[in-house]
Amino acid sequence: MSSSSLPARSWGLNRGEESFLGPAVGMVTLAGCSAGCLHCYLGDAVAEPVPLTPAAFTRIGTDLRRRGATCLYLVNPEGGPPAVLAKALAAFRAAEPDCPVVVKLGGHEPLGLAEILRPVTDAVSLDVKVFGDTEGRAWLRVPDYPDRARAQARFWLDALGWFEPRTARPSGLWLRHVVLPGQAAAWKAGLRDLLPGEKPPVWVTLSYRPFGMARTHPGLGRPLDREEKTAAMAAAEEMRREGNTVWLA
Ligand code: SF4
Repeated sequence: MSSSSLPARSWGLNRGEESFLGPAVGMVTLAGCSAGCLHCYLGDAVAEPVPLTPAAFTRIGTDLRRRGATCLYLVNPEGGPPAVLAKALAAFRAAEPDCPVVVKLGGHEPLGLAEILRPVTDAVSLDVKVFGDTEGRAWLRVPDYPDRARAQARFWLDALGWFEPRTARPSGLWLRHVVLPGQAAAWKAGLRDLLPGEKPPVWVTLSYRPFGMARTHPGLGRPLDREEKTAAMAAAEEMRREGNTVWLA
């Protein structure tokens, strides 16, 4: 892959993301991620990365916008050379100034990448995955995951503030979380500990499905059972009572 292009894994209209972003986001997923989540669904997709120049990236984003995308939704930004990514996003913003740019982060990325993304990003969906070092090492292959996720959350909160759902153009940070098997009772406290004293908006889903290596994993190889879903829904309700905006999917 050339150092002047972005390795795009896939792009298209996606209707399965955060509902508050509208009926369809224009998702572009880059290939490459330094976390090795056992439950990653991207590993199951057979895809040769397509090299995109900034101009090609902009054409794709513009096309998605014309087809009804409410925002450009970039996944795995660490997959491309940062300078090219910054150039591509700046070109897209110049071409489509009314289209918000949403970046989905996994929480493990280096802060240097956040610095580069900051001037070209309207909103961040920070997918906080696990809350302990042990799970970070075993399930994501990232030894200091909790510290990294905390640093990302602090950076983006300082840079953008919390997402405010009532504004016309999405902007700010929200947390995203997939409740994993065995974690139904722990996720609320985990999110609370990320930035103590804060009341983040949270999009949380109970629709975990094991992909890839997770299928045979003793802990991750199954969806949530009924009791876990009930416990997770109760935790979501508690968070709402405590003042958080919570979307449950
Ligand atoms: S953070 Fe995990 S789930 Fe997300 S792309 Fe990387 S390996 Fe996959």
